[in-house]
Amino acid sequence: MTTPDSHARTTATPTATPIDREVDAVVIGSGPNGLVAANLLADAGWQVLVLEEQPRIGGAVASDGDVHEGYIHDTFSSFYPLAVASPTIRALGLEQHGLRWTSAPAAFGSPFASGDWALVHPDRDATADSLDKLCPGDGDAWLRMCRDWDAIGEQVIAALLTPFPPVRAGAAALARLPRVGGLDFVREMIAPMREVADRRFRGEAARMLLAANSAHADISMDGVGSTVMGWLLAMIGQDLGYPVPVGGAGAFASSMARRLESAGGRIVTDCRVTRVVVDAGRAVAVRTGAGEEVRVRQAVVADVSAPALYADLLAERDVPARIRRHLERFTWDYATIKVDWALSAPVPWATAPVLAPGTVHVAETIDELAVQGTQIAAGLVPSDPFLIVGQMAAADPTRAPADAESLWAYTHLPHDVRGDAGPDAISGRWDHDENERMADRMQMRIEKYAPGLSDRILSRRVLGPREMQARDANLVNGALNGGTANLHQQLVLRPVPGLGRAETPIKGLYLGSASAHPGGGVHGACGSNAARAALGHARLRRLVGAPRRVMDELRSGR
Ligand SMILES: Cc1cc2nc3c(=O)[nH]c(=O)nc-3n(C[C@H](O)[C@H](O)[C@H](O)COP(=O)(O)OP(=O)(O)OC[C@H]3O[C@@H](n4cnc5c(N)ncnc54)[C@H](O)[C@@H]3O)c2cc1C
Repeated sequence: MTTPDSHARTTATPTATPIDREVDAVVIGSGPNGLVAANLLADAGWQVLVLEEQPRIGGAVASDGDVHEGYIHDTFSSFYPLAVASPTIRALGLEQHGLRWTSAPAAFGSPFASGDWALVHPDRDATADSLDKLCPGDGDAWLRMCRDWDAIGEQVIAALLTPFPPVRAGAAALARLPRVGGLDFVREMIAPMREVADRRFRGEAARMLLAANSAHADISMDGVGSTVMGWLLAMIGQDLGYPVPVGGAGAFASSMARRLESAGGRIVTDCRVTRVVVDAGRAVAVRTGAGEEVRVRQAVVADVSAPALYADLLAERDVPARIRRHLERFTWDYATIKVDWALSAPVPWATAPVLAPGTVHVAETIDELAVQGTQIAAGLVPSDPFLIVGQMAAADPTRAPADAESLWAYTHLPHDVRGDAGPDAISGRWDHDENERMADRMQMRIEKYAPGLSDRILSRRVLGPREMQARDANLVNGALNGGTANLHQQLVLRPVPGLGRAETPIKGLYLGSASAHPGGGVHGACGSNAARAALGHARLRRLVGAPRRVMDELRSGR
């Protein structure tokens, strides 16, 4: 079953009319960051053209009906707590352009072999009660964490989602620090997740509610900086749930596209940009794969990965040697494999959770998460992969026929496979056979907690690292964060040391993808930072240009 405009727009046919010859701004790529940037530029009255390589819009925010008739599957991302918490995306008012959010009964949870579930209920007291039943004291510890969130959560989000350094938002967060324990809180946020989870909680259920969210990024459980992501996602989940767009992720992208078009912007699909043309240190045009050139009066925003921008789209002579040197050390986040299933009935969990969670984390201990991280770091395909699982019909019944389930799971892999920690001798070719063997391994992981799952499978689709990248060039081997989230490539070091902002060494060219600060996830901040930088520079040029124009007019006697 599909709902109107669920994924139809994201499978749009190529635009037949010729592309514009000159515009104020070209946005390369229609991922969420590209579409946010395009919207903000169009709001400022700029003539904006988005050029998208794929036949559909949305980048990693897309859905399709390819797995099984009557089912909608999100091709990549699914849950958008960061979008709902993002001031930029909230301010777009996408609900007026057709976007409707919905949520599963529980935001997220983890099953245990004992039959217990760790679950985030919509009501924090209910979460606390359920944790207390599993391990007395953990409920209070959860509520203490929620109180910290109440005191400083909004300010932390604002500081993370604004350009680096976050002067005003950072000051607001600093002012709140005394309420949450001052520097102890700062220390906790950058401390390794294992230490924080062990100190805050006594039971594995509460620990996993926190730690499994850290494992969405590629930071080791024992690594510096692993706590902040887990805390943020867990607390947003408790506060706002893990919302999904009614009808599929594509409906989210479509609403951004509709908003853009109503503001006068234009999107052309099936149009790969192959070159950013630079003249006298300024981006002046882009060239497409078909050989067309579009001149830009103001700016180019690149919603492409940092390596793609600096190594492919720009001519070597236009990239400072320093940047090229740094790029050699650019680190991708983990590779990814994703499996989609169309199920004839809901997942047959051995013990049904009291509320169905939209997101299910499959791993029982921090040790399991740590082992998976170590295996990947050693180039090994994980033996017992940590799975992030989406029960999409539980969150949004329009995704599948009544009483059925549209299920997916993904897990991470090394980019360069040196061996298989599991029994299948997967070599890293990631051809059909290896994809299927890995998908079997993932399926068996779920089946351990949901015996009989296989009997309910109507269809299965496997998107290995190559298939991901073929559908979105930014997802190199399926890397979903535009580069590692580890501290050595964050803040002023993202994407390479010394850049840290959307500005590039080329005037009028801005990096607006997840490769830029603050990184992966659908929050639109990278796109918004790029658009605001472009608008700010244009204002500055006008201000500087005005006296010059007056002088020129005086000189010429006009
Ligand atoms: C499997 C998976 C699951 C995820 N789950 C979640 C989730 O649940 N929640 C969440 O918040 N985040 C999730 N993410 C991460 C999130 O989707 C990304 O961080 C986000 O989409 C990044 O947005 P972006 O605009 O920077 O890039 P992208 O979304 O990758 O978009 C880039 C766009 O640019 C286009 N492009 C690239 N090169 C060119 C070119 N030369 N010319 C023209 N067009 C070009 C691409 O085709 C693409 O459309 C997930 C990602 C993946 C892969």
